[in-house]
Amino acid sequence: MDPLRERMERLYPLCRSLTGDGVRESLAILAETVPLELRTAASGTPVFDWTVPPEWNARAARITDAATGRVLVDLADHTLHLVSYSVPFRGRLSRAELEPHLHSLPDRPDWIPYRTSYYARDWGFCLTQRQRDALGEGPFDVDVDTSLAPGELTYGELLVPGASVEAGEVLVTSHLCHPSLANDNLTGLTVAVELARRLAERPHRLGYRFVFAPGTIGSLVWLRDHPDVLPRLRHVLVLTGLGGGGPLVYKRSRPGDAPLDLAAAHVLRHRGGRLIDYAPYGYDERQFNALGFGLPAGRLTRTPHGEYPEYHTSADDLGFVTDEELYDALAAIEEIFGVLEGEATYRALQPYGEPQLGRRGLYPAVGGRTASEASMAMLWLLACSDGGTSVREIADRAGLPFALLRRAADDLVGAELLAPV
Ligand code: ZN
Repeated sequence: MDPLRERMERLYPLCRSLTGDGVRESLAILAETVPLELRTAASGTPVFDWTVPPEWNARAARITDAATGRVLVDLADHTLHLVSYSVPFRGRLSRAELEPHLHSLPDRPDWIPYRTSYYARDWGFCLTQRQRDALGEGPFDVDVDTSLAPGELTYGELLVPGASVEAGEVLVTSHLCHPSLANDNLTGLTVAVELARRLAERPHRLGYRFVFAPGTIGSLVWLRDHPDVLPRLRHVLVLTGLGGGGPLVYKRSRPGDAPLDLAAAHVLRHRGGRLIDYAPYGYDERQFNALGFGLPAGRLTRTPHGEYPEYHTSADDLGFVTDEELYDALAAIEEIFGVLEGEATYRALQPYGEPQLGRRGLYPAVGGRTASEASMAMLWLLACSDGGTSVREIADRAGLPFALLRRAADDLVGAELLAPV
C-alpha cells in the first residue's frame, strides 16, 4: 500500500483532541518516519491570553436503551460520536433530557457531525439524523467515561537543518487535534511528514522546521516556547485540507506580498491553483500572522474549510481523499520551496545587445526553429537581469516555470554571462 495512505489509515481511528493519549499515539506514528522531538506544556500554564487546558481522555461513551439494554450510540463505533472534551457523566435520562446533548445534521441524515466543547464544561453525542430518529422515547442510560485532569499538552517538532544558519528557516505546521477526519487534517500531517523525510535526504540552504500541534493553543504554546527561533523564521506555511477535491488554494499572509506569497503565486499559476487573500479566520495562520509575532504565514489547502459539505462531518473519511491529491500537493510544495531555495538576483555581464549564445554552445545552432523554452529562459534572464530584478520576477514576466529559469541562470553564470548581485 502507498505509505502516505497507510499512515492516514493508522491515524484515522485514533481519538485525538487538544490533549490526551490520542495525540501522543498519533505523534508516535508520525515519529516512525521522521525523528520527532516531543514537547509538553502542563495544564494550567498561561500562554499569552490563553491557558493550557486540563488533559482529556475518553475511555468509553455510549447511550443505551434502558429497557432493552441495546446500545444506540457508541464511541467505539466512531470517534466523532462523542463531543470532544465532554465532561464525565453517568445517569438515566428521558428523551427530553437527552435532547439538548444530541447533535445531528437533518440535511445530511447519514453523516455524523464533529463538535467540540473545549472551554464550556458540557457533554454531548453526535449521531446521524437516522440514528436520532430511531432512538425511541427512552429512558436512556448515558455513560460518558472520560477524564479531565491536570496533565499536559503534547506537540511534536523536528528541525531539518539547512546548509546555512544565516539563510533562516521555513516553519511548516499542521494541526493534530481533529479525530477521525481525513482531509482535516490527516492530509496535512501526512504530507508534512513526507516533506520532512524527503528534505532530510537532500541538501538545501534553508532550515525546515516541522511542528505538529493542536490548533490555536498548540501553536501559541510553540510560539511561547521558541522566542529564540522566531527571529530566524523567514516563512511559515500552514498545511491542511490537501484532499477532498478542487485545485490547490493558497491563502496569502497578512502582508500579502511576503516572499512565500510570491513563490506560491508563481507555482500555483503554473499548476492551475487559486489564490485568496488573508482573513483573520481559519487555521493557525491566525496565530503566526498576529501583530505581536508578525510572521508571514501562508496556508495551503484545496477547497477551504467550510466551503465543502463534508467539512467537519463523518463524510470527511479516507475515501474523501485520493493519493493523487496528496502527491500533487507534495509536488506543489516542493516547487514552492524550490523557489525559496533558488531565488536570486543577477546582473548581465554582456548588456550591449544580445550575447552570441550559439558560439558558447547555449543556443540551437540551426537557425529558424522556434526557440525552445530553455532558450527563452536564457533570453529572458539576459534581457532582464539588471541587478535588481530577481529570477522569480523574470519567470513571472516570462510566464515560464521558475525551475527552468533557475537552471538557465546556472548555465549563464557558468558561461560568464550573468553574475550574482
Ligand atoms: Zn477543522
